[in-house]
Amino acid sequence: MTYEPVIGLEVHAQLKTKTKIFCNCSTSFGAPPNTHTCPVCLGMPGVLPVLNKKVVEYALCMGLATNCTINRESRFARKNYFYPDLPKGYQISQYELPIAENGCIEIEIDGHPKRIGITRIHMEEDAGKLSHDPDRPLSKVDFNRTGVPLIEIVSEPDIRTPEEAGAYLRHLRSIVRYLGISDGNMEEGSFRCDANISIRPKGSETFGTRTEIKNLNSFKHVESALCFEIDRQKEILEDGGQIIQETRLWDPVKNKSISMRGKEEAHDYRYFPDPDLLPLVIDDDWINSVRKKLPELPDEKKKRFVDEYSLPSYDSGFLTSSHELADYFEECVTQFPNPKPVSNWIMGSLLGLLNALGKPITESPVSPGNLAQLLKLIDDNIISGKIAKTVFDEMAQTGRAPEEIVKEKGLVQVTDESAIKAVVVKVLEGCSKEVEDYKNGKTKLFGFFVGQVMKETKGKANPKIVNQILKDLLKT
Ligand code: ADP
Ligand code: MG
Ligand code: ZN
Repeated sequence: MTYEPVIGLEVHAQLKTKTKIFCNCSTSFGAPPNTHTCPVCLGMPGVLPVLNKKVVEYALCMGLATNCTINRESRFARKNYFYPDLPKGYQISQYELPIAENGCIEIEIDGHPKRIGITRIHMEEDAGKLSHDPDRPLSKVDFNRTGVPLIEIVSEPDIRTPEEAGAYLRHLRSIVRYLGISDGNMEEGSFRCDANISIRPKGSETFGTRTEIKNLNSFKHVESALCFEIDRQKEILEDGGQIIQETRLWDPVKNKSISMRGKEEAHDYRYFPDPDLLPLVIDDDWINSVRKKLPELPDEKKKRFVDEYSLPSYDSGFLTSSHELADYFEECVTQFPNPKPVSNWIMGSLLGLLNALGKPITESPVSPGNLAQLLKLIDDNIISGKIAKTVFDEMAQTGRAPEEIVKEKGLVQVTDESAIKAVVVKVLEGCSKEVEDYKNGKTKLFGFFVGQVMKETKGKANPKIVNQILKDLLKT
């Protein structure tokens, strides 16, 4: 039987506000344990939460950017459960009335657009952080993270493959980064994902029983956990068994998921409206002012790159995956208005270099201006494409301008035909045996002659001219 996976993702993005969602404590990371705390985020009796306006603004941004309906009135609710990292005994979240609902984003799979629905976006507070001593029966709790603002973005079960799940997550992350509302860092836990997955016989309209996989902190883990879970569920169904609705934990070391607990239902949490917080009312003026301030988003930018620069869709998608990369490209194109070569160099040599250095584009040792200058040198026939690679490596190491490097190292391309001809004559004289063979039909040797001439000129001869002269001289 062929099965079809059905996947829905719940993503928690930590918002980049200076202070927590309901108190004035700092959200900054890395402080000594329990120093960013106060009676409010420690859940002392008698204290009152005060909503941080910035959190609402950021959640609004995300709702608008993902085509959601913004609820003019939303509510905070208490989600009750006991856990040592949750001092109040409940988490303040949104339940029945989230700030945003019914949105969607578009991902691209094999060059085809696919729409993934967003069920809801709500605001909530993060819990503290437990660390367990591996050697002693002892756990420590750090409440610095308690009350740090999160938005949870819940997708419709529209995702059908692990690959689509990865594309959806990457797109969502690029949106929060474009908006500047979260740093979207999965490894550092500021962008976390729980994956819900079920499978069903292909062609079936009803959904199967799902499991939820927690603890996914990289794109790779999401994709491998989903692949594992698809196989596991298939095996059970094929053996005539039933899937149990449960929460599973991904172990990236053993590359498998293990059962953690039976799935909790909403009623287990005894949700009720938080009596300490008023209903949140958002008027049209506020929505409009946030909408006006939205930056150009990845989809719009990608479309503009196709229209304005005549780039292929693949290039545009790649270059607009982050706004920093897009800015780099645009700055380069302003100075060297030939988009496709710029795109090729960025996606090729430059990204290769940054990956090797483990640096983001904003710390590129090769500035957009210098890359533009390098491309201009090639375009003006001052250096060959091959020499350009050498110059690029030098730019990467020193951060210097290409013109300087070319001048200093005498890398200017030789385009003087008589000078090149002299070298070609000399080379051909030096390998009379090969010339003989060539003339007897071993035409493959042409490349060998080109190679010899390039070697002789240290790669500086203009390859087009070399080819032309070689052809002429070998004809006779
Ligand atoms: P909960 O809050 O209990 O985890 P939700 O109803 O909010 O449950 O759904 C959580 C996620 O599970 C959503 O992203 C949704 O798309 C997804 N989902 C719901 N049913 C299924 C299913 N049968 N198979 C796969 N995913 C599902
Ligand atoms: Mg869930
Ligand atoms: Zn506090």
